[in-house]
Amino acid sequence: MKLTVLGKYGPFPKNGGATSSYLLQVANKNILLDVGAGAFSRLLHYIKPEDIDVIILSHFHFDHTSDIGVLIYYFQSLFAKGYTKKPLVFCPEDGGALAQTVIDCPYFDVNLVRGGEISMVEDIDLDFYEMRHPVQSVGVKISHGGKVFAYTGDTNTTVSLDDLFEGSDLVLADGAFLQKDWNENLPHLCVERIVQLCNKYGNKSIISHINPKYSEEDLQKSVENSTCEIAQEGKSYII
Ligand SMILES: [Zn+2]
Ligand SMILES: [Zn+2]
Repeated sequence: MKLTVLGKYGPFPKNGGATSSYLLQVANKNILLDVGAGAFSRLLHYIKPEDIDVIILSHFHFDHTSDIGVLIYYFQSLFAKGYTKKPLVFCPEDGGALAQTVIDCPYFDVNLVRGGEISMVEDIDLDFYEMRHPVQSVGVKISHGGKVFAYTGDTNTTVSLDDLFEGSDLVLADGAFLQKDWNENLPHLCVERIVQLCNKYGNKSIISHINPKYSEEDLQKSVENSTCEIAQEGKSYII
């Protein structure tokens, strides 16, 4: 498996950056995890949008879904020329008008998911988990060929995190806060919590959903001497 960070920021990007979006290449499949602001043009560096096999939307906040609209326009232009292959979309149902736009989109094959559901795309396993965020939000564990990747989406502490970290080789995790600004009632985790989870389960994490208010120096300090890395846009990680 190969994970490429297209956008690592939330809730808005730094100058020249993009918000949450990741390309996971597994076997011969291209899986797009969230489609934040700026994701579409970043994706074009790596694949043609028509080569997307699966889109997983963790939830319908705009920093994870902004560019789904322009992706729909792209597929609209393809279908107008006779193209017929629809990407599989997995997303929660609860997401207002934008969710309805995706659900009604004639160019996508949409599967509504919630925590506890399991799906398969050929021989790739997708296990979904309910996360703790102000709107319905799912995390996902993706397994293939003995390798396990997990994505937390947006969340604060919840038992689902243990399920996601346990047995995973790499976890892409929501590190929107540093400990000094964090508490249990916020919508996101903090970097130091993710480091603790990695220590507990002996795995590695790419920490993303970076708030642009933090300096790179402070972020790097928070993962010193750990198995965690702060995500870098344009960087790929082999799992
Ligand atoms: Zn977010
Ligand atoms: Zn969110």
